[in-house]
Amino acid sequence: MKYEKILHEAAELIKMSQYAVAFTGAGISAASGIPTFRGKGGIWKTIDPNYFNIHFFEKKPFITWKIIKQAFYDKITEAKPNMAHYILSVMEQKGFIKSVITQNIDHLHQDAGSDNVIELHGTYKRLVCTKCGMEYDYRFADLNYLPPTCFVCRGVLKPDFIFFNEDLPKKTIENATAEINKADLLLVIGTRAEVFPANTFINLARDNEVKIIEINIDKTALTHYHTSLFIKNEAENTMEKLCRILTCKD
Ligand code: NAD
Ligand code: ZN
Repeated sequence: MKYEKILHEAAELIKMSQYAVAFTGAGISAASGIPTFRGKGGIWKTIDPNYFNIHFFEKKPFITWKIIKQAFYDKITEAKPNMAHYILSVMEQKGFIKSVITQNIDHLHQDAGSDNVIELHGTYKRLVCTKCGMEYDYRFADLNYLPPTCFVCRGVLKPDFIFFNEDLPKKTIENATAEINKADLLLVIGTRAEVFPANTFINLARDNEVKIIEINIDKTALTHYHTSLFIKNEAENTMEKLCRILTCKD
């Protein structure tokens, strides 16, 4: 099917839906200059993911922090939302979508103005003390001295995002599950949906017979089995065109 025709079909599905939810991954932030994990230019091509295992961090926080700083903090703090983030915010304001569930930790949905955002994997913006639980804005820490430590108890500070072998907070799972259970349409944007348990929310949507629109530059494991409509293109261009069709031109 032609790109334009698929976009019109997607717009029609969005218009007809009562409760559309966006589910986003690293691909939506690629145009903001933040590398994805896997695929072309992915972080795991150059960095061993074991450094992001919570047990490694607990033993050698200095090494993990050095890598986190280079791979994330030096890039994410400079990143700005792109058209895909802004359009999702406009779509929320216009009532076309109700919420965004994101696997990203970059805070770009909120920076673009989205209000109802569930961050499945936490955020880089907050640091949390591994000893006393005190929370800090990341700007509190001087990342020239690693690992950053707690002002109160000198415990090591950890970014408040999920490391490998860490569980998602119960409340986050409950909130995301509630959103999916209300949804009748899911816009899955820029994710390979291979990360567990984030991908189980897409399985739940499929089990609930929710229609799924997938926007990605490449096919994923979802495309054949879950996706109702696949839009093979960049999120930033697609979302802009989609929004024009939906007539939210502002
Ligand atoms: P992934 O790296 O596994 O896959 C990225 C997906 O995005 C791929 O399917 C790729 O084809 C697609 N993609 C790349 N550029 C795109 C574009 N311009 N438009 C549309 N699609 C595009 O990412 P994932 O599935 O989100 O899972 C990886 C994990 O990585 C998540 O848990 C997330 O927390 C974390 N992560 C977050 C960030 C961030 O916060 N920006 C960055 C890297 C990784
Ligand atoms: Zn502390």
